[in-house]
Amino acid sequence: MKVLFVTSEIHPLVKTGGLGDVSHALPLALRQAGVDVRVLVPGYPSVMARLGKATALCTLEALSPIWSPARLLEAQLEDTGLPLWVVDCPSLYDRPGGPYQTPDGRDWEDNALRFGFLCHVGAWLSNTPAPLSWSPDVVHCNDWQAGLVPALLRHRQGPFVPSVITIHNLAFQGNFDPLWVTRLGLPMDSFHLQGLEFYGRLSFLKAGINYADRITTVSPRYAREIQTPELGCGLDGLLRHRSADLVGILNGIDDSWNPAHDPALPAAFDDRRLAAGKRRNKAVLQGECGLAKDPDVPLLGLVSRLTYQKGIDLLLEALPVLMAQPLQLAVLGSGEAVMESRLREAASAYPGRVGVTLDFDEPLSHRIIAGSDLFLMPSRFEPCGLAQMYAMRYGTPPVVRETGGLADTVVDCTDDALRERKATGFTFHNATPDDLAAAVQRALATYGNRTGWRLLQKTGMRRDFSWKRAAADYVGIYRALSGTT
Ligand code: ADP
Repeated sequence: MKVLFVTSEIHPLVKTGGLGDVSHALPLALRQAGVDVRVLVPGYPSVMARLGKATALCTLEALSPIWSPARLLEAQLEDTGLPLWVVDCPSLYDRPGGPYQTPDGRDWEDNALRFGFLCHVGAWLSNTPAPLSWSPDVVHCNDWQAGLVPALLRHRQGPFVPSVITIHNLAFQGNFDPLWVTRLGLPMDSFHLQGLEFYGRLSFLKAGINYADRITTVSPRYAREIQTPELGCGLDGLLRHRSADLVGILNGIDDSWNPAHDPALPAAFDDRRLAAGKRRNKAVLQGECGLAKDPDVPLLGLVSRLTYQKGIDLLLEALPVLMAQPLQLAVLGSGEAVMESRLREAASAYPGRVGVTLDFDEPLSHRIIAGSDLFLMPSRFEPCGLAQMYAMRYGTPPVVRETGGLADTVVDCTDDALRERKATGFTFHNATPDDLAAAVQRALATYGNRTGWRLLQKTGMRRDFSWKRAAADYVGIYRALSGTT
């Protein structure tokens, strides 16, 4: 079974959120399951800088003159040997800033072209007969950035391989001016309600949902939620229409997130050697985040993109109530300017008790998840969420809103659930500061009960969140689509 995995992020070369983690871990798990997988990514500077030995497979100018010069490079992902196919097109990707935004946080104006080209390369490699000696049995597209691949395949003359699209977040849709339809080589007669059109714009994600053979998303609960007007982001009708082809497969987490051998941590620990390791990580974290050194005060951690989705405003509004009791808060995040400045204000309002780092810092994210007592994820919606699973693995029970993958992965700590060794964290229902504060309150009460707390931590640490199960589900889909074993 050969799969081309098309993605705009792959950890550790480029990551803005969970997609980067998934695009690293899932292909590795697929390889373990016997799949010959190649990951197709754009050649951003951070990717090109860490490619190591790369071979040029072919030039890509023939695909269209507007993005020349361009080449397809073959390399391997460091430390894993995972085959990478990199689209080296300096005019589109060789620039400062992030994969989607300028250094000052605006979307790149030519994103339609940048990711349209990625899609063209993905579709070209999925043509039959194949242009190169290696050709996929299935093309697996991720998020809007790869959403045009199924549409480009469907609109070409001749046979092509089946496609899967995975929705990692329905809120990001890649909607652009309709003039891009023809510029990107798509027929204008596909620009209609049942095709590429979404409220008068060309929608990459809608194109993917419409034309892919299968649609997956990253948790069973989110697969149901996106079929409702509340969380369907305007695409719920189409998703209901395609519900027979839509499935939720829960993400896993990989072994690079393991407190027993995590190079970012000052002290290793596991579920049998827990107390001393957690204590040491907490002390170092308190120092690093400018918090008072106190082993006993409950320390709440948060690592997140700072957006409305993540419910950061709920936390900010709950802060006066929360800070009325002895606790500390360590925040790591970057995102919307308003939230960054409100968090800065919170840090100065509670010196030594609220530590805020406004940055994207992978090693610090590990230390916060390891050194905190509780981990906060008050998301308004959450397709899967990885950080709550990392937190459980690191003995840091999460407090989460009951939505999407958070609801699918965290078992609320009722007395019965704790006794039956099922409880792993605390959930709350409504996206309000009061409900969040009440859940933290419950968590603090349990924290005061040493035996109960240890049980809660250990139950979370022992949960199986491995990628093996998810990879098997994806392989099942690939087999059904391609008839290949
Ligand atoms: P999303 O994909 O919506 O951002 P997830 O929980 O699925 O949310 O994945 C987020 C990933 O990004 C996690 O690995 C988390 O630790 C990481 N992350 C988020 N913000 C930061 C940050 N500021 N610094 C380092 N890692 C971060």
